[in-house]
Amino acid sequence: MAVLILGGSGQLGSYLRHVFRDSLFTYNSTQAPGGIKLNLTEGIEVEDLVLKLRPSIVINAAAYTDVDACEKNREIAFKVNAKAVKHVVRACSVVKAYFVHVSTDYVFDGERGLYREEDLPNPVNYYGLTKLLGETYALSYDHSLVVRTSGVFSAYGHNFPSYALKALREGREVKAIESLYSPIHALALAKSIGELVSRRKTGIVNVAGDRVSRYELALRIADRLGVDRALVKSVRAEELRFEARRPKDSSLDVSMAKGLIDFDFHSTELNLSMMFEEADRELQ
Ligand code: NDP
Repeated sequence: MAVLILGGSGQLGSYLRHVFRDSLFTYNSTQAPGGIKLNLTEGIEVEDLVLKLRPSIVINAAAYTDVDACEKNREIAFKVNAKAVKHVVRACSVVKAYFVHVSTDYVFDGERGLYREEDLPNPVNYYGLTKLLGETYALSYDHSLVVRTSGVFSAYGHNFPSYALKALREGREVKAIESLYSPIHALALAKSIGELVSRRKTGIVNVAGDRVSRYELALRIADRLGVDRALVKSVRAEELRFEARRPKDSSLDVSMAKGLIDFDFHSTELNLSMMFEEADRELQ
């Protein structure tokens, strides 16, 4: 059973390669040994690749994920997050591959939170809009699964929990906004995707962590480290001068996934533990 992971050099892609051992995978700018170079802005290239490799499963973890850059570089965002998915789906339908597409809580406006799979999306930024278009292309194919997730993190890469952990460990102040989301460790997400793939689930499934604010999350990290909570400063989103608007509460309801996945993928403490273990290993 050949598995092709698009975006195998990314944060989630790296953990997916661990879960789907012996998978084929692509990278774009971050050269990864054993990977296949693929630029998704050239949509036709991905069609050629899928037709050549004829995988039975394609997992798309590739995306233009810099939310603020998407606002400025709209053409690239559209090509990578939306149009490329159309090409992947077209090739999957020819080789009859099962397709898993990873999407985001940012398809919602964040006015309510705890969004269920059937809730109406209403993105507030260009990243969210392009990801929503990507979902639509994915769902036009019967053998596809869209996994919506939120705040993917690990000890590596650019993400809020790892920034907070490093800063607090070094006794530096952490600025945290109070907006809510559903952060999940990339390994918990990759394992959950493994479970959903083994069931050949189709449609949309939210796979994310429990609802928490960035501020509360940073306090929990401070508590685990035993450092002064006063190092965590609550700031308003406007103070951070983001280019793109952010939803106030983009948390996801994961009831459906809890019924499909028989291990704990969602609890904040478990997800934080995974990051702490990685960070501790790095220090050794
Ligand atoms: P990363 O930014 O870590 O990885 C993105 C991947 O996409 C990399 O492998 C990158 O390749 C690849 N990529 C980017 N541009 C191109 C391109 N033009 N052509 C081909 N490949 C490209 O993202 P994550 O792993 O964190 O995210 C995985 C998925 O989860 C994405 O679909 C994202 O939208 C979704 N998501 C992420 C969240 C988060 O907080 N990170 C939250 C919610 C959803 P390379 O590095 O080699 O250039």
